[in-house]
Amino acid sequence: MKLLLVAEYREEKLLGSINELLGFANEVNAETAVFLVGSENKIPHFAGKLYLADVNTHLEYNPDGHKALLLQAIEKEQPDLVVFSHSSYGWDLAPRVAFFLEAAQISEVVGIDNDEFIVPSCNSKLRRRVKSKSAKTVLTLQAGAFSAIEANETQPEIIALEADPASKETVIFQGYEAMEQGGVDLGKAKIIVSAGRGIGKPENVAIIADLAQALGGEYGASRPVVDSEWVEHNRQVGTTGQSVAPKLYVACGISGAIQHLAGMKKSEFIVAVNTDKDAPIGEIADVLIVADLKQFIPILTEKLKNLPGLRH
Ligand SMILES: Cc1cc2nc3c(=O)[nH]c(=O)nc-3n(C[C@H](O)[C@H](O)[C@H](O)COP(=O)(O)OP(=O)(O)OC[C@H]3O[C@@H](n4cnc5c(N)ncnc54)[C@H](O)[C@@H]3O)c2cc1C
Repeated sequence: MKLLLVAEYREEKLLGSINELLGFANEVNAETAVFLVGSENKIPHFAGKLYLADVNTHLEYNPDGHKALLLQAIEKEQPDLVVFSHSSYGWDLAPRVAFFLEAAQISEVVGIDNDEFIVPSCNSKLRRRVKSKSAKTVLTLQAGAFSAIEANETQPEIIALEADPASKETVIFQGYEAMEQGGVDLGKAKIIVSAGRGIGKPENVAIIADLAQALGGEYGASRPVVDSEWVEHNRQVGTTGQSVAPKLYVACGISGAIQHLAGMKKSEFIVAVNTDKDAPIGEIADVLIVADLKQFIPILTEKLKNLPGLRH
């Protein structure tokens, strides 16, 4: 099998997501090439061909231009799979390429089993197995689903790509708009206690915030809690929130959907509190406490508050 991985370059940096795509390539043990609109000074390290277009000429994003360049690389490489990250770049570019190639597109892949791709469905409660029927297949891979390769110094063979003069611009990229920052920076917290949908109602955020305070940490939340406006967005952990790696992460009433895990699975020690002993969070938790958080957490918090010298 041959893969063409699509690397991303943003704000003058090569994004680390390419290392997860290379991890996927390792897992399927396939011949690998990479496509990048970027700079020769910041390239991914792997054994294979790097199809490189210059970012100064083609910009960091320009859908029609990048599609034309990628199609050139596909024409030369003839890969079986064209593999994107499940990111805003991938969401925009992958369907354009799949449509042009008349290829199947399988989005948000979290696993592969022989020639079947595993994708979440029903808000990540279930998993589907999908098989492509087309000669080429376009994939987007969910962040955190495949282990990133370790940094190394292997130099790829660089093949320069030029612009396709026939490509017309139908969409013009105007730039990035930074998300409003402010409030808490969870990335710096050593201890995070997070609230999931299992808290049941907004008043119960206080239970989670109290425990975080007793531990000398910060509180975070899963996306449904943020979407319900029970907690502000800058406390969301996961693919569309913050990525955190504290010493201790306490997940309260959080099922363990891949999008949440992607943002916290690098935590040093993970404790989960859940009424469901089979909740997927149990697969990565160091300790799973099977309990109703509304009963368990306040008792724990009270005990901790009375422990001398715990707060840092
Ligand atoms: C493109 C995309 C991006 C996403 N980005 C993110 C993201 O950044 N972050 C994120 O978190 N999610 C994200 N999601 C959503 C994600 O798929 C899940 O839907 C979400 O993480 C589920 O949140 P949850 O675990 O709080 O809720 P649920 O999945 O509903 O889980 C609730 C859990 O609480 C437990 N529970 C219920 N009552 C109690 C109780 N009394 N005591 C203890 N436990 C209890 C249940 O057993 C269950 O395990 C994204 C989804 C998509 C499609």
